[in-house]
Amino acid sequence: MEFDVSSLNGIKSALDLFRTAMGAAKEAKDMLPDSDEKEAFSKSLEAAEKAVALAEAEAAKSLGYQLCQCTFPPQIMLSQGYDDNSEEKFRCSKCSKSWPPPEQSMEMNYKSPFP
Ligand SMILES: [Zn+2]
Repeated sequence: MEFDVSSLNGIKSALDLFRTAMGAAKEAKDMLPDSDEKEAFSKSLEAAEKAVALAEAEAAKSLGYQLCQCTFPPQIMLSQGYDDNSEEKFRCSKCSKSWPPPEQSMEMNYKSPFP
């Protein structure tokens, strides 16, 4: 299956709409009296929310966004513009982690000669 950016943007707005609906469903749930049904409703809302967040992260990834793995489903890192080296910076709005990492040193590929 082939994706182009415009169809992914369509997915994104569909997901946004779904999230709005989820918010409304949650408010409705809060107005229910405590019961087994409310508990079950609450559980399926949580599962649906997770699925949406995951689908959103997948769509974001396909659009070239960086994902932050500080939570699951992952957070989508948003562009912060360019730094002094004209490199684009991304930041997680949840944990404030930035991408690319501040120092990308060669040490990451360093292998210890000792087992
Ligand atoms: Zn994060």
